[in-house]
Amino acid sequence: MALHTEHRAPIESGCPDGLQYMHPLMRKHYGNWAYHEDPRPGVLVHVAKNGEKIWTVRAGTQRILDLFTLRKLCEIGDEYGDGYVRFTLRSNIEYMVADEAKVEPLIKALEDAGFVVGGTKNSVTMISHTQGWLHCDIPGTDASGVVKAMMDELYEEFKSWNMPNRVHITTSCCQINCGGQGDIAINVQHTKPPKINHDLVANVCERPSVVARCPVAAIRPALVNGKPSLEVDEKKCICCGACYPPCPPMQINDAEHTKLAIWVGGNHSNARGRPTFHKLVAAGIPNNPPRWPEATAIVKRILEVYREDAKDWERINDWIERIGWPRFFEKTGLPFTKYHINNWLGARRSLNASTHIRF
Ligand code: SF4
Ligand code: SF4
Repeated sequence: MALHTEHRAPIESGCPDGLQYMHPLMRKHYGNWAYHEDPRPGVLVHVAKNGEKIWTVRAGTQRILDLFTLRKLCEIGDEYGDGYVRFTLRSNIEYMVADEAKVEPLIKALEDAGFVVGGTKNSVTMISHTQGWLHCDIPGTDASGVVKAMMDELYEEFKSWNMPNRVHITTSCCQINCGGQGDIAINVQHTKPPKINHDLVANVCERPSVVARCPVAAIRPALVNGKPSLEVDEKKCICCGACYPPCPPMQINDAEHTKLAIWVGGNHSNARGRPTFHKLVAAGIPNNPPRWPEATAIVKRILEVYREDAKDWERINDWIERIGWPRFFEKTGLPFTKYHINNWLGARRSLNASTHIRF
């Protein structure tokens, strides 16, 4: 038998290199712009060192796009733009044009087709969200549905520059995985330990890996009705839901007891200060599809107070840092409850991450 001495070339299966799809002018000056400006909400202009300019027009999309909407967006790009588009992390679509005269007709074409132009500078940009019921196996709510309901009500805030600084909102449909962290985050919160279907555990779950998955060691193997199964020490369980993905018979989603929680003040940026973790400000909010009115009302209230009270260019975390958490609760009218207190065993190390004590 012949020995193979040559290595097989790897088959590329990840994201293709984005540079090949970029507008030629953007590629030419990539990473080397002199400056950029914001002529109006939803439009950026980048100026190169040799004076060449490129305009970017940003429109919001719902992220999970059907083929017809995607085609429509591409047709607009071909007809009114230069034929180049890209999506931002927050599911906005951006069109790049090298001729200023194309900007207004492009905006009009987008708005006539029902899309909204905005999301730049000190606006509330698109909410970044996880997949929800469409294609994940563990969601406790539909993050994309929360986004649709909420952005319908924040439409004007997307289109205009009303906020003291940028607002990044995120939503997440379980408590543990691709969860949100942002200026305002709307995340699922389970409030009851999982219910175990003992007839299925032995056939469906790898028990050692489920036991290993629990962050507080609340799961142990057990024999139930003569079958190998698992049991949960409910006193220890923090209702995180981490056992449910590897073991679907440990059902934790529940129409009544799966709630939403709102967290504020998360910031990845280190432009003016250190990045910050967000902190819980409202818990036990009903998970109420299809419009989630209770969660939306709280988010709108926080935004209203932030708009009125923050100084220009303060992000939400900077604003709260200045006024302090007690004043945040006073001004927003949100009740401070026992659920805001981090009473976890390991809290000694994480007290500084909760809203009730700062040092
Ligand atoms: S947040 Fe959780 S439920 Fe939602 S898509 Fe991610 S892993 Fe799935
Ligand atoms: S919900 Fe979380 S804490 Fe409770 S048993 Fe499952 S993994 Fe452990």
